[in-house]
Amino acid sequence: VGEGEGVGGEQVDDAAEEDEPTDSEPGVLDVAPAVEVAIVLALGGNVGDVRGTLRQAIHDLDAVDGISITAVSPLARTAAVGPEQEDFLNAVVLGWTTLSPRDLLAATSAVEDAHGRVRDQRWGPRTLDLDIVTIEGVVSTDPVLTLPHPRAHERAFVLVPWAQADPDAVLPGLGGGPV
Ligand code: ATP
Ligand code: CA
Ligand code: CA
Repeated sequence: VGEGEGVGGEQVDDAAEEDEPTDSEPGVLDVAPAVEVAIVLALGGNVGDVRGTLRQAIHDLDAVDGISITAVSPLARTAAVGPEQEDFLNAVVLGWTTLSPRDLLAATSAVEDAHGRVRDQRWGPRTLDLDIVTIEGVVSTDPVLTLPHPRAHERAFVLVPWAQADPDAVLPGLGGGPV
């Protein structure tokens, strides 16, 4: 709680500190929407039976209480960025959620874990990567969950399948526009 703020904590006036916004206070990431909001998720993988993994991952997401998947894009095959590795298969799914952004991230991370995601090399090979591209009405610069996804606007493997799933899609925010 308030990590990094408490250096020399003895001298900090507790009452004054309570007025300061801290990362531990409920913020935009902790607010569950009053009514369901639209979500856009990007899936990718390049290890194992990727088609099977993506299909099962979409099923798993849809099975979560408070998440519904309503549209699935065609698959896009993309050469990997980063270290030399297999091509990726990518897809974008549309749906809605009643979960808070943080709970949605926990759910997507759990689905990654269930499909053997190992977190070692950034942009390295993986069985399943599940990114949150947008949550309707949510803008966040928190590195734990940045929304809209800060690199979505420059990634053909997100934009092409997204446009196929929703030809009228618009990416909000800086660098955004019609998908
Ligand atoms: P990139 O974000 O460039 O696609 P990556 O998907 O390989 O890279 P990961 O290792 O999967 O990166 O994720 C690193 C961290 O990014 C996660 O632990 C998560 O907390 C954080 N993160 C921030 N914003 C998002 C988002 N919109 N969707 C998913 N994870 C996010
Ligand atoms: Ca990613
Ligand atoms: Ca990711």
